[in-house]
Amino acid sequence: VKAFTSAIDIQGQQMHTSITVGGALAPLDGRDADTLLRCADTARSHAKAEGGSTCRFYDESMRRRALETAQLDNLLRGALERNEFALAYQPVVDLASGRPIGAEALLRWNSPVLGPVSPDRFIQLAEETSLIVPIGEWVLEQACRELSAWREMLNLPLHMAINVSSRQFHDYRFVDRVQTILQNHELPGDAIVLELTERLFLGDDGTSVEVMRELAEQGVRIAIDDFGTGYSSLGVLKHMPIDTLKIDRLFIRNTPDDGDAQAIAKAMIVMAHGLGLHVVAEGVETPAQCRFLLEQGCDEVQGHLYSPPLPGDEVPALMARRTIDVRYCAPTWASSTK
Ligand code: C2E
Ligand code: CA
Ligand code: CA
Repeated sequence: VKAFTSAIDIQGQQMHTSITVGGALAPLDGRDADTLLRCADTARSHAKAEGGSTCRFYDESMRRRALETAQLDNLLRGALERNEFALAYQPVVDLASGRPIGAEALLRWNSPVLGPVSPDRFIQLAEETSLIVPIGEWVLEQACRELSAWREMLNLPLHMAINVSSRQFHDYRFVDRVQTILQNHELPGDAIVLELTERLFLGDDGTSVEVMRELAEQGVRIAIDDFGTGYSSLGVLKHMPIDTLKIDRLFIRNTPDDGDAQAIAKAMIVMAHGLGLHVVAEGVETPAQCRFLLEQGCDEVQGHLYSPPLPGDEVPALMARRTIDVRYCAPTWASSTK
């Protein structure tokens, strides 16, 4: 590692390079080359994550993490068949009227062995193993069925926002599946909004845009989720058939008190509107945050201020009666005589 810290002279050009080393020890970490190399590679990834230009040996914490991941993967494999997944729904409120206009479907895994597992812990693993494809399809089906029931019950054109992972989006059957599921539940395309993250576009060869166009032809809307946490450039977004920009709660958390947070959120809203996009802010917890967003012209909010994610059967009753009073930016119950 030290040898590589000084520049290398190549035809008079000073080239800077660095190396990152991972190591494993026999017989402690393994007794054959494959196992040892795998451990060394894990150690190298850890070293790299710590900034690189260093050397790490495989250790107890990496062993523990690898075991945990293997266990999680094992349990995740049968979870769909064992019916361990459920969806929670978080209402989305229109700021002009203060009324709920839809909801976001959020996946929940209740493992009999591990208890409730947060999606932040298992979604990435499910993506790595492609399990996200059948799981994601189950989410689409379930969310559309629920939405169809609510629309009928409340007689409102509510929409459902559904998170779609990159692996799922790039599956060649995706567009067909969406179309079939919408038809089965007699829903128009614009009843759903597919939430994609910016990571989807990393190293994309144009297929994503093609898939988006096919979806847009069915009326399906596309939102960019967790905006600002990834790598999207404005230039990229401009050329995509996108309808909505969703501001991550990271940027909402410190508004309106923190000046930097305020400036960033404001800029995002102005920019999105400049591109003709709809803006949704997530993680809105306080009336002050809501007021700030209202003043900036944000279109929709979602967060604990109005409601945390709820089981599907509790949503219609809530949506029928609870609004956000835009004068005070506080939730209020409409009188039961509608
Ligand atoms: P996300 O899409 O950014 O979802 C918003 C997260 O913020 C949810 O976490 C939600 O419960 C949480 N949240 C909402 N309002 C508030 C608030 O006022 N305060 C705070 N502190 N948090 C709030 P959750 O349910 O744990 O989901 C985490 C992530 O897992 C989601 O982030 C999404 O990226 C992913 N995910 C969830 N369901 C699915 C799914 O069906 N498919 C895929 N591919 N990913 C999913
Ligand atoms: Ca989302
Ligand atoms: Ca987010």
